[in-house]
Amino acid sequence: NGINSYQSKLEIKNRTLLKLVNVDHLTKIHNRKSIETILIKELKRAKRYNHEFSVIIFDIDNFKNINDTYGHNIGDKVLKNIAKVVTSTIRESDYFGRWGGEEFIVISTETSLNKALLVAEKIRNSIYSYDFEEAEKVSCSVGVAEYTSVDTHQTIVHNADTALYQAKNSGKIKVIVYKNN
Ligand code: GH3
Ligand code: MG
Ligand code: MG
Repeated sequence: NGINSYQSKLEIKNRTLLKLVNVDHLTKIHNRKSIETILIKELKRAKRYNHEFSVIIFDIDNFKNINDTYGHNIGDKVLKNIAKVVTSTIRESDYFGRWGGEEFIVISTETSLNKALLVAEKIRNSIYSYDFEEAEKVSCSVGVAEYTSVDTHQTIVHNADTALYQAKNSGKIKVIVYKNN
């Protein structure tokens, strides 16, 4: 009847809207808000069940040069392709989001530091070996951090960021792991 069909239309609309607010417009992966919500939830789960859990953050090297050399539209295309390449590189159980402009985050559930390091190397290699039609070689730097019982979603991201910062400061195109004491 009328009310039922109105309700189901509303449900479809709601679902579409929910998708839109969680997706990054350019790359179609999780946006910052969405991936942060996932991070908080998954970290709680890891804490509660004492499961392994890692966070990988990567940032495109010298991206400003790509924009300056080829223009902002090409820069956008490169970002889209990076999202595509990395999506096909990581596991389906990993969550992938855009953290900032040319900075991305992977949430790896049930994953130890050693395994996350392998994932991080795979991401780095997949971007480095990808043939971006629109630009020359694109590389990224990567920071990895593993969850420990003292971590919050803020500290684990901060740790991965610290490692990323070290990767940037030691020549880029590399993966650095955050060392917990
Ligand atoms: P580094 O190797 O240290 O990371 O250097 P970088 O040039 O990549 O980093 P920097 O932070 O200096 O510049 C990042 C650039 O990314 C600047 C900004 O305009 C560009 N950017 C951020 N978001 C977007 C976007 O959505 N599209 C495009 N085309 N460029 C973006
Ligand atoms: Mg950068
Ligand atoms: Mg950056």
